[in-house]
Amino acid sequence: MIELFTLGGYGTVGRNMTLVKYKDEAVVLDIGLHLENLIRFSGENDDIRKTESPEELMKAGALPDLIRHKTLLDKVLAIIPSHAHLDHVGGVPYLYRFFRKAEIIGSPFTLAVLNELERGGRRKAASIQKIRLSVNGKHRVSRNIKVQFVSASHSVPDAVFVVVQTPDGNVVYANDFKIDFSPGLGSLPNLRKLSKFRKPKALVMDSLYAGKMGKTPSESVAKEMLSDVFLQVKNQKGAIFITTFSSHIARLKEIVEISRKCGRTPVFIGRSLFKYMTAAESIDLVDLSSKHRIVRFNDKIVSLLRKVEQNPEKYVVVCTGHQGEPNSVLSRIVYNRLYGFSSKDSVIFSSIVIPGEENIRNRERLELAIDKTRARVFRDIHVSGHASREDHRELLDTLLPEKVFPAHCELSSSKILKDFVEASYDSKVIIASEHERHAF
Ligand SMILES: [Zn+2]
Ligand SMILES: [Zn+2]
Repeated sequence: MIELFTLGGYGTVGRNMTLVKYKDEAVVLDIGLHLENLIRFSGENDDIRKTESPEELMKAGALPDLIRHKTLLDKVLAIIPSHAHLDHVGGVPYLYRFFRKAEIIGSPFTLAVLNELERGGRRKAASIQKIRLSVNGKHRVSRNIKVQFVSASHSVPDAVFVVVQTPDGNVVYANDFKIDFSPGLGSLPNLRKLSKFRKPKALVMDSLYAGKMGKTPSESVAKEMLSDVFLQVKNQKGAIFITTFSSHIARLKEIVEISRKCGRTPVFIGRSLFKYMTAAESIDLVDLSSKHRIVRFNDKIVSLLRKVEQNPEKYVVVCTGHQGEPNSVLSRIVYNRLYGFSSKDSVIFSSIVIPGEENIRNRERLELAIDKTRARVFRDIHVSGHASREDHRELLDTLLPEKVFPAHCELSSSKILKDFVEASYDSKVIIASEHERHAF
């Protein structure tokens, strides 16, 4: 009998955590932060603050609430973050001490980011072993549990589908993913390998956009959208400011390439950009920073912006703050007037607003403030990393799971997924809340 515990990220977007148990052995898939709750609590996104305790963050809903699961956590032999987004790996450094004997298994970029998150922090647990698996690698965790990675595509490098194999069948964890055969960077989704694990007992599936018909566009489409905006504004002789997800290394690579084509020098501002770019370079994924300037400290930001003001047509300023987070670099540049915007300048949001009242309010306020400076604003120059209906269908056709657990979404999306799946497949869809136990 396999037991699956929905510890976080069911019925809500964030703090992802699922525990799979067979007899007395268990593994944990993801330990993530709930970013919206984290921003509300600490005013900052995309970064780990060192001051809050795990208990405080649990109370704020920013981490999965593990207090009630202490005995269960003693059985955990491996923590397996599926990819490097903070809603999947960001909780790991906070919660080491809740596990007595777990090792960490991750793909190269995921572990490189985890190392960056730990750097300088007090939460590094030297005694915890880290096992680096390739995106199609496998590892035996214990007598009864094996783990197989299968490369997925998403908006961060080295994202994987995780197959947890037990003597009573498999659980496949597909959280997050989309099907993209032109991702720009990294491996293609390995559906052939995944098909070897057909008919798993359960599939935990990223269902954020279960209500979106069609297929999520490829990253190559985002590259064309970016090129189009750059071609439109490059002759304005103004500065180009662009903000995107710091972990989206493929997008950053595209921005560098397009900037160079337009004869401009990209400069990067922000601590989280520095962390993710350092992580990518530490595993030789890209070489972005050696030729370009990255600024992460406040005093350096002002002097860099003075240089940009003198020759705005020569630069592309890449910075954090695409959600309008109040303490982010872009918000500070705009609200504190660190740069004198004019009608020649452009601000590009290479992102979408992540659903949530707080995010929507923050972004509206920031866009309004930029608009008042008369600078041009380009928004939604972006494609999502999350699956839509036809991506879901591809995965379901490949796996034909017995049960599907919608994850990473609100109840309304779970219901749409249930209607679709149960009308088209023999699979049963289980709409779970957090802290439930399911046995099969
Ligand atoms: Zn996620
Ligand atoms: Zn993700």
